[in-house]
Amino acid sequence: MDKKKELKIELITPERVLLDSPIAFATVPSGTGPIGVLPGHAPLLGNLFMGVLMVRDISGKEFNVFVQSGSFMISHSGIKIVTPAAEIDDQIDIDRATAAKDRANKILASNDSIMDMARAKEALIRAETRINLAQAARKTR
Ligand code: ATP
Repeated sequence: MDKKKELKIELITPERVLLDSPIAFATVPSGTGPIGVLPGHAPLLGNLFMGVLMVRDISGKEFNVFVQSGSFMISHSGIKIVTPAAEIDDQIDIDRATAAKDRANKILASNDSIMDMARAKEALIRAETRINLAQAARKTR
């Protein structure tokens, strides 16, 4: 197999290795927008943005992964992602994300400290992103 045509993805959280396999293509959510990565992409180190990592595996099947903030590195050996939390779309617990959304909305509706508001806004965006991904995955599979 031509080494230049290979692309590997490794996605690691403090809890687990979520992805470690050859893929065909991925779109990485970066601070400067989504980056499409094919085999042979130029080396790059960057900040991972909270959002959706899209992966196309070598059979052509696509799936989405929720990722938190963190870092990514594109090198000749592939894509490496380190993030505090990540879940493949069909593994997201919708009830848990809905509970997180409700908690965040309650805090935002109250008059708490500025710190709590900022954290609640982030928690709300995380929860809504997870719910949207999980619902889309359930519709298409
Ligand atoms: P929660 O309040 O439900 O913990 P959170 O957004 O604060 O939500 P994170 O800090 O992002 O949670 O993640 C903590 C851990 O829980 C990570 O391992 C993450 O993958 C997992 N996790 C969080 N929410 C979900 C979910 N809805 N489905 C599956 N795993 C989840």
